Amino acid sequence: MELSVVIPVYNEEENVEPLICEINGVLQPLRKNYEMVVVDDGSQDGTFFQLSRLHAQHTWLKVVRLKRNFGQTAAIAAGLAYAEGDIVAMMDGDAQNDPRDIPALLAKLDEGNDLVAGWRFNRQDPFLSRRLPSVIANRLISWTTQVKLHDYGCTLKVMRKDVAKNLKLYGEMHRFIPAIAYERGARVAELKVNHRARLRGKSKYGMMRTLRVILDLLTVKFLISYSTRPSHIFGPIGIVSGGVGFLFAAYLSFEKLVYGTAIGGRPLLLLAVLLIFSGFQFITMGLLGEMLARTYHESQDRPVFVVGEILDGGERA
Ligand code: UDP
Ligand code: MG
Repeated sequence: MELSVVIPVYNEEENVEPLICEINGVLQPLRKNYEMVVVDDGSQDGTFFQLSRLHAQHTWLKVVRLKRNFGQTAAIAAGLAYAEGDIVAMMDGDAQNDPRDIPALLAKLDEGNDLVAGWRFNRQDPFLSRRLPSVIANRLISWTTQVKLHDYGCTLKVMRKDVAKNLKLYGEMHRFIPAIAYERGARVAELKVNHRARLRGKSKYGMMRTLRVILDLLTVKFLISYSTRPSHIFGPIGIVSGGVGFLFAAYLSFEKLVYGTAIGGRPLLLLAVLLIFSGFQFITMGLLGEMLARTYHESQDRPVFVVGEILDGGERA
C-alpha cells in the first residue's frame, strides 16, 4: 500500500458519497496503490449506512465505525491505526478541504519532508468566530512550539508512515500534530491549499474551542520542552519564590531581634510564609515530575531520543 487517506466523519451523511467519489477521482490518475480509511465517529444519522453501501462497491474503501462519538482527535487516531499506506494523508469529511491539493502535498513531501501541513490561505469560514481566533492561535502556537506554521487547524496534511504511527494523540490534540511530530524529529513543511465553504451538514465546533486550544498549547509546550526534565520548569519558580520569601522573613527577624519591633500583624510576614511554602511545593512538584517522567519513559521502553539512521560496521555498500 503506497497511500492511505484518513477521513474522520461525524454526522456527514450528505457529504460522504460526493467526497469519497471526488477523492477517488484525484487518486486514480496518480497510479498508486491507495486506500481510504473513513472513520465513522459514532454518527447518529445515516452516515454509516452510506459508508457500508459504498464499501460494497469499492475495494479501496476501509470503514472503521467507532462505538460512540469519541471526538475528531480519537477518530483521526483510529484512522491512523488502521492505515496501511507508506504515506498517510488526512482530511476533513465535510468536503471543505480540496482533494485536488493532495498531489502537490505529496510532491512537497518528496522534497525530503516528513510531514507537509496544508495552509488554508483563502479560508472560507466566518471571520469573527473562526478566522480571527485562528490567526491569534496560530501565532501563539508557532511562537511557543517553534514550529512556524500559518494554519495549525487545517486537517489536510500528508506524512510518512513512521510519523503517523508514532503520534500519540489525546483529547483534542490533532491540531498540534505538526508540533508533536516535530518533537519526534520530523521535518515539517507547509503548503498553501484550497479551502471551500461548507455546502452540506453543520459544523461541530463553537467558540469554546479557543479556550481549549490555549490549554492544549500549555500541555504541548510542557511535553515538548520539559517532559524529560520537569524540575527545570518547576524548580526555578520554587527557588525564586522560596528565596524571596526567605529574604522577607530574614528582614522581619532582623527587625524583631535587633529593634524589638512587633511583627505579628505585618502583611509582609504572611507573604513571606506564603512564598516559602509555595517555593517548597514547586520544588517538590518538580521532583515528583522527575519520577513520573522516569515511569513514563521506562514503563513503555520509550527512549528519550529518536534515531534517524545508523551507519555502523558490518556490510558496506
Ligand atoms: N468530526 C468528527 N468527530 C467529532 C467532530 C467532528 O469526526 O466529534 C469530523 C467532522 O465530521 C469533519 C471534521 O471532523 O469531518 C471537522 O469538523 P468540522 O467541519 O465540524 O470542523 P470545522 O471545519 O468547523 O473546524
Ligand atoms: Mg469543516
